[in-house]
Amino acid sequence: MLENLPSTTEELMAWSWPDMAPHYQVLASRVITASNLPAWLADWTSIGELVEELHARLSVATSINTADQAAEERMNVFLDDIFPNALAAEQKLKEKLLANRLEPPGFELPLRKMRTEADLFRSANLPLLAEQQKLANQYDRIFGAQTVGWEEEEITLTQLAKIFQSPDRNSREKAWKLKADRQLADAQAINELWAKFMDVRARIAENAGKPSFREYAWQDKLRFDYTPDDCKSFASAIEQVVVPAASRIYEKHKKILGLASLRPWDLVDGWYSRPTDSAAASTLKPFASIDELKQGVSNIFHQVDTQLGGYFDSMLAEGLTDLANRKNKAPGAYCTSFVSIRKPFVFVNVIGSQADVITTLHESGHAFHIFETAGIPYIQELSVPMEFAEVASIGMELLASPYLARHTGGFYSEPDAARARIEHLEGLILFWPFMAVVDTFQHWVYENPAKGANPADCNAKWGDLWDRFLPSVDWSGLEQVKQTGWHRKLHIHQLPFYYVEYGLAQLGAVQLFGNAIKDQAGAVAAYRKALALGGTVSLPQLFATAGARFAFDSATLKTAVGLLEQVIGELEEEI
Ligand SMILES: [Zn+2]
Repeated sequence: MLENLPSTTEELMAWSWPDMAPHYQVLASRVITASNLPAWLADWTSIGELVEELHARLSVATSINTADQAAEERMNVFLDDIFPNALAAEQKLKEKLLANRLEPPGFELPLRKMRTEADLFRSANLPLLAEQQKLANQYDRIFGAQTVGWEEEEITLTQLAKIFQSPDRNSREKAWKLKADRQLADAQAINELWAKFMDVRARIAENAGKPSFREYAWQDKLRFDYTPDDCKSFASAIEQVVVPAASRIYEKHKKILGLASLRPWDLVDGWYSRPTDSAAASTLKPFASIDELKQGVSNIFHQVDTQLGGYFDSMLAEGLTDLANRKNKAPGAYCTSFVSIRKPFVFVNVIGSQADVITTLHESGHAFHIFETAGIPYIQELSVPMEFAEVASIGMELLASPYLARHTGGFYSEPDAARARIEHLEGLILFWPFMAVVDTFQHWVYENPAKGANPADCNAKWGDLWDRFLPSVDWSGLEQVKQTGWHRKLHIHQLPFYYVEYGLAQLGAVQLFGNAIKDQAGAVAAYRKALALGGTVSLPQLFATAGARFAFDSATLKTAVGLLEQVIGELEEEI
């Protein structure tokens, strides 16, 4: 047992690297044998958890109040001093464990991950990874500086995008074109940045002895359970099964809106999402106060499962949520883990919309994952691959969705609950084709690095993919905006290959939803059992335990899409 570790949050928040370093030294110098290995891992876990929890608590402090200068300073100390030192100390312990060749039970997968990371590590890549990060920051700066003049005010493009919800088609078109023109003005800058990204990534791959950056990214992302070919199968299954279903949704809305053709400014995000419909669920007002939101979500979770409802209530009671939007709060939503006490913290910026209800359910799904893994002994067993972490959250959106109406403790009349659910389910269908474009584009880029580094070739490829996967929206006369769509998808630039995870997780989540329609209690029990495995087993095993297949094929996708369309059809009867 390590002595004198912080035992209260106050002590933890005051912890410094000189306090931590001796503990890491003790662990690094201890001789490990088969018999003392569990104790050594437990000690490593207790210090690793505290460092991670300190980071999480500082992130929470800086995001719940962006004007809190003391929190910001403590975060800077953490990032500049504690973080790099702790990372290096953690690396020493990993190397010690790997050199030792002992395999504690249940540790096969964490060890495989450590070996894979060690195998990919090249010190020559450290400056290149830092350079890549700088390019990512430049990308943010280009987009962050984009503003336009609207009604005699200078506003950001995010603020401008609110006009896409307007029932007035002319102002939507005007706003959309203004945004597009502003973004096109930076096309040259993005193209130049892209060439630098491609160059640095080629060098990173070469240093690591990989034939292309894709092989590097695959190993870096620890993708043990699927291949680039699986992603291609998934994309062609989406083209075959989902694209026609998405077209049916667009057709339906075109009729409702009485339009001859759907133009991008008729979509709520101006891109690929649902058409703007002033009678739709996006205009619903589910709650008037945060207390109403908390009560409604709690009621809904109690309908899903008593234990899950209890988890949510305990988060409220223990101050482990911050839901309301207010001044000096960071944007967005997240769930983080206070890992030494194995409790989650959920952060949302609610303003009173149906989307806020979904976001709260989603982040709570991640929170339940943290509750369910409380019994897992070692920190290295806790890291869950994204492909399944998002099953916990998207799955919870779907498991909770039948209880949105007031008579089950939720927020809406029956017809409004049906509207909210239709919008949610249609969103799932419309996401897959877009995801397929983003993923397929990246495979092409790194398979054809010369063309992939050439913006004109990238434009042509993106345009072709767009026409194949999103044929129902009329982009005629807007070719330049359409073809440069890859400029505006930040994952392609900043987080290469990170996107297919959402599509795969969504397919798992829809399968859980189907199971719940047949056997609600059984489906939720399987969900909880799978969450409780943390990161100790493979993706196919996690999915199977949850009652789903980790799949890329058109048959599984067809069943999923068929189910979504069937439920949408039933809900339309209730409006
Ligand atoms: Zn999530």
